This record gives sequence, C-alpha cells and structure tokens, in this order.
Amino acid sequence: MEDPDIIVAGAGMAGSLAAAAAARGGAAVLLLDRNDNTVVGKKTNWGWVCGDAVAKSHTDFIEKELGIKLGEPVLDVKVDGVQVLSPDMQNKFPFEGEGYSLNRPKAAQYFAGLAVKNGAEYRPHYEVGGPLLEGNRVVGIYGRDEKGGQVEIKAKIVIDTLGIASTLRRKLPPNDYIESTVSTDDIESTGRYIAGFEQDGEDPNYYDPKNALIHLNQVLAPGGYGWVFPKSGKRVNIGLGVEKKSLEVRNSKLGKKDTLHSLIDDYVKWNHVIKGIRIDTEDGNGKGYWSVTVRRQFDSLVYPGYMGAGDSMAMPNPISAGGIGPAMVAGVLAGEVAAEAIAANDASMEFLWKYNVRYNDLYGNKTAALEAFRIYLQSLNNDLINYGMSHFLTKQEAEEISYGRIPKITIAGTFNKVLSGISNINAFRNLIFTVNKMKRMNELYGKYPGMSGFLDWKKAVNAEMREVKERFPPNPI
Ligand SMILES: Cc1cc2nc3c(=O)[nH]c(=O)nc-3n(C[C@H](O)[C@H](O)[C@H](O)COP(=O)(O)OP(=O)(O)OC[C@H]3O[C@@H](n4cnc5c(N)ncnc54)[C@H](O)[C@@H]3O)c2cc1C
Repeated sequence: MEDPDIIVAGAGMAGSLAAAAAARGGAAVLLLDRNDNTVVGKKTNWGWVCGDAVAKSHTDFIEKELGIKLGEPVLDVKVDGVQVLSPDMQNKFPFEGEGYSLNRPKAAQYFAGLAVKNGAEYRPHYEVGGPLLEGNRVVGIYGRDEKGGQVEIKAKIVIDTLGIASTLRRKLPPNDYIESTVSTDDIESTGRYIAGFEQDGEDPNYYDPKNALIHLNQVLAPGGYGWVFPKSGKRVNIGLGVEKKSLEVRNSKLGKKDTLHSLIDDYVKWNHVIKGIRIDTEDGNGKGYWSVTVRRQFDSLVYPGYMGAGDSMAMPNPISAGGIGPAMVAGVLAGEVAAEAIAANDASMEFLWKYNVRYNDLYGNKTAALEAFRIYLQSLNNDLINYGMSHFLTKQEAEEISYGRIPKITIAGTFNKVLSGISNINAFRNLIFTVNKMKRMNELYGKYPGMSGFLDWKKAVNAEMREVKERFPPNPI
C-alpha cells in the first residue's frame, strides 16, 4: 500500500483492533510493526509480557462493535472474577467481575488477522523511528524497513499504538495536549512467569482455578501487588509489580537490597500451594519483565494528524494496571473515528476530538479517580491496609471503587466502625479526603471539554491531582 489513509503503528492489542475497525469503516489502512508475522504483537524480546487477564465486559464490547465471536484459543480460561486479598489474607474483596485469561500470542495473531480480513495491510519488520511533521501536524512516519533502509510513509492520520515506550508520542512537538513522558512515580515495574506447577494442597487464597488472585502486600510487592492468574493445563501466570520509590522505602526500612527479579522469585516461594514450577518454553513467552503505567490516560488522545490508543496513551487502569481492556476499547474507537474522518474528508484535530469524548464516556471518565485512590493506597503500610480492609470499607464499597464509582462514606456515618489508634484514624481521614477528591475528579471528567475549554479543564484536573500527590508520599511495609 503506497498511499494509505491511515497508518496504525504497532500491532499489539490496541493497534490490530484500531486497524480492524478503521478498515471495517472503509479506510485504506496500513498496520506496521517491527515483528515478523509469526510473532505479531510481541512487546519485547521477553515476549508478550502480561498477566493476560481481561474483563468480560471488554471482550463483550469488541465482539459487539466488530461483529466477531471470540473463543479458544484466544480465550484461554474463564474466571468468575478477581479477588483482592489483604496482606494478612483475612479479607478478600471482589474486583471487576467475570473475565478471561487470554492466550496473548494467539490473541495478537487473531486480531492482526482480523485487521487483514477487514482489508488492512500488515507490514512486518518495520521499525518506527518517529513522526513526519509539517509544521505542527503529523503527516506520516519515518522508520527502517527490514533491510535497514530509511522509509518514510505519508498518511492523513497516524494512530500510535506502539505501547508504553512509543517513539511517536515521545517525538511529538512540545504541546499542551499529549505529554511526551510519564513520571516514574506513575509507573510500575512488573514481571511474570507463565508456568506449569505441582499443586500442594488446596488453599483458594493462594491458587484458585476459578478466580484471579491479587495479593496486596507492601513487603512482597511494595507499591504494587502480586498476582496468581489461572491458565489452562494446570498452569499459572504468576508475577508482581512494584513502584520504584515504594521499593526504595521498603528496602531501606528492612535493610534489604531486593529487586523486581528477586521479589518475583520470593513471591513464587511464598506461595505454598504452587510448587515445582516449570516455566513455559513455548513461544519464548514464559518469563518476562516490562513496565506499565498506573495513571489516568493522557488528557487528550489526539493531536493534529495523530491519535493514540493503549499503553502509548497511559491507558492501563491505575489500580489494577489492567491495560488490555482499555487498549481494546480505545483501539476500536480510534479506528472508527479515524475512518469517519477519512469518509468525511476532514482529518482536522477538531474532528478527531470526537474520539476523546467517546473514550471518556466509555472508560476514561473514571481513571483520574482511580489514580487518586492508587496514590492513597501506596501510602498505606500493611497494618493499615489490613485494618482498612476490615474496618473502613465493606466489600460492596470496595467493589464500587474498583469500578470508579464513589461510595457514600462519611466521617459521621462510619466513625463508629473505626476503632482505635491514631494512625488508623488518620488513614481513615485520608480515605475520606481521597473519596472527596475522587468525587471531584469524576465531576471534572463528567464535563470533559471540547477543544476550546480544554486548557482550563486540564489545569483544574492537574491542580486536584497535585494535592493528592503532595499529601500521600509512599510509606510501605
Ligand atoms: C507484567 C505485566 C502484566 C500485565 N498484566 C496485565 C493483565 O493481567 N491484564 C491487563 O489487562 N493488562 C495487563 N498488563 C498491561 C497490558 O499488557 C498492556 O496494557 C497491553 O499490552 C497494551 O497493549 P498495546 O497494544 O497498547 O501495547 P503493546 O502490547 O505494547 O503493543 C505495542 C506493539 O508495538 C510494537 N512496537 C513498539 N515499538 C515499535 C517500533 N518502534 N516500531 C515498530 N513496532 C513497535 C511492539 O513490538 C508491539 O507489537 C500488564 C503489563 C505487564 C508489563
């Protein structure tokens, strides 16, 4: 394809679905990726590094929107839900409802195939270098082809789905819409094994074939959490994420020098049900490390000639780091709006703004509130998390929060639940502060602006988030 309407750069979850949706909408779409056809969507040399868990609500959305039906091998196993456990394992909160563990390599292959079936061209072995610019407008991309030659490709719209380290986003001209970098405070370093194992006894707090388990624990996974997600054939996806500052605080309090890698190995040993792990060798995808953002998506997802979806736009859920769902939803919406822009012969930023609004309505409107809650959570030590999960919130209230809805918690109404100890009372007061900030964030995102009101709106969001960050430095263990 010499002259595409739309270039989709990056054939991961967001990219292939953006290409599938845009081609379905009638546009000429070129989907590019550095990977060979046989390993589509591979994030890094480590493989398709991911926990692979996705909520059914998200797979339902893309099935409906793209007229497809997902099944095996893309959907590996079904789970009833996600259970979040307190550090002392005494409390378990439900989170996000039914879902699946994906077979990531197969899912990536299937979605890229769908894009091609819908009429897109997939070009492998293309290493994207950056955006081609005319003034402040993105008019294409430059990069290297398989033979190492510089190749420029022009298009009316470029959709950036290159993932967290996007070379397109980072090379946009400085602007008020899309940030070029993400603060390290908003990034989790993560890693995981996919492995077969011998089951030593039954304990659904450590392994549950019907539920994805999340272990909150500031010693095991400072500023993040550990997870055990079931996979088919008596295998698990087991791993954890940490936040850099929280790890430093935790190490200095404990006099340790643990790293992400040592913590993952310790977490596997800590699990008394999962024994004798055998790391998968298929696809070279059994062991890997990568980063994930845990902030709200960028305030705008569009720029002249440019749209972004998935990790390139910091879309993973700030509490769970679940980025597959938002990447899929955003990919489809970006592809649809891009195709509409081509059909209307209007690829202006004003036209593309529709995508900001649609994404905000469907998913983005809750993420700033969740970011505020995540920052609060990282400031609690294990004792406070234990106490909070047994005294501050009911299961139902916690579940509300996981969906970005704000439960009615008031000091007067809940104070009798909060027993003794000054630090517990302070943590509870801080929860009330956080819940109020979450409400405020939801109000602001409920009024996501048009282009003209954007800068004032953004200022208001940033001011609220700054207050949250200033109040809650990390305080693990
Ligand atoms: C350890 C870990 C566990 C996770 N667990 C979960 C989970 O359980 N559930 C969940 O929902 N989310 C999880 N996530 C997040 C999830 O994996 C991501 O949100 C998701 O993969 C985002 O998809 P994407 O399409 O935006 O980007 P990616 O999957 O990163 O795809 C980007 C694509 O672009 C290609 N590419 C990048 N740069 C270039 C370039 N310069 N030139 C050409 N091609 C390029 C890459 O090779 C890749 O094919 C986890 C993340 C990590 C790291």
